[in-house]
Amino acid sequence: MKIHARPFLSIVVPAYNEAENLPTAVATLLAQASPHCDAVEIIVVNDGSKDATAAVMNTLQAQYTQLRCINFARNFGKEAALEAGLEHAKGDAVLFIDADLQHPPSLMPEMIEAWCKGADVVNAKKRDRGEESAAYGFASKLFYRLFSRATGVDFRGASDYKLIDRQVVEAIKQCRERDRFFRGLVAWVGFRQVDVLFDVQPRVAGESTWSTYGLIRYSISNLLAFSSLPLTFIAIAGLVMSLVSVVLCAETLLRYLLGASLSGFTTVIISQTAFSAVILLAVGVLAIYVGRMYDEQKGRPLYIVRQDSVRDREGSRAQVSEQTHSPAQAIEPD
Ligand code: UDP
Ligand code: MG
Repeated sequence: MKIHARPFLSIVVPAYNEAENLPTAVATLLAQASPHCDAVEIIVVNDGSKDATAAVMNTLQAQYTQLRCINFARNFGKEAALEAGLEHAKGDAVLFIDADLQHPPSLMPEMIEAWCKGADVVNAKKRDRGEESAAYGFASKLFYRLFSRATGVDFRGASDYKLIDRQVVEAIKQCRERDRFFRGLVAWVGFRQVDVLFDVQPRVAGESTWSTYGLIRYSISNLLAFSSLPLTFIAIAGLVMSLVSVVLCAETLLRYLLGASLSGFTTVIISQTAFSAVILLAVGVLAIYVGRMYDEQKGRPLYIVRQDSVRDREGSRAQVSEQTHSPAQAIEPD
């Protein structure tokens, strides 16, 4: 197992309306990571926040040179923000953490140490599900169980709080699907993965942006992005219904031959509705996959950057050097 020296660490922080949390988050992250790293960069991806996140980041950048802020043109969602961080990070290892400090930064030294000892992926897993309700806990357990079954990868307790090696970053960059599920991709690429456990902390400020409907959509979308199992279910349903129809046909035929074919409306109604339901369900599932293929083939970018502090700085430097290197313009006489 290869042993790493202290890393140049990139910390990726997706932020949507996190103006209140960012000053504490940035200071805490630097305090936790710096003693264990050669160098640290923090990439805050401002995912089209409607509050003062951009302004707060401008102020913080004057204070911390290690800070990079990537401002999206609108809200593209956390998955896109994580992807932007992944693509812009320059470190030997990249750590992903929420801006609201629900992922305890005190775990970072342990995660960095695990990487130094040779782990390629350090997964921070939830030991306790914090403030979540029993229903939420049950739903999320069910989702992860289904997901693990469908994909063959164990996800229980998985969170987006992770530290991944450069090699893994490059592997994930090669997964070009638009429909991204970061946790799933990290598990899917493999490498040497180790887990460290943490307790979910209450949010320091602000509110979670997830609604129940949003979570259900997110779960279904991730399941479909990672598995074609629902298509197999359609085939199984088709098979079961075919067997049922054989039995029904045999029964109907027998009744006809015995001269007792008038009764049996119940069977007709039940079979009609059951078959229609299964057909519609099947068409629905197929339509969802077709829709996703349509989205994928459009090949639009996952996010659009409105402003990136480093790109702007490098841009203005390039402009300055262009000006200094360009020959003085000859002044034409009138
Ligand atoms: N987030 C984001 N874009 C969004 C929603 C959330 O970048 O559209 C960020 C958010 O700022 C936070 C992290 O993703 O840093 C987790 O979000 P949240 O706390 O709302 O989710 P929860 O902790 O409830 O899973
Ligand atoms: Mg949170």
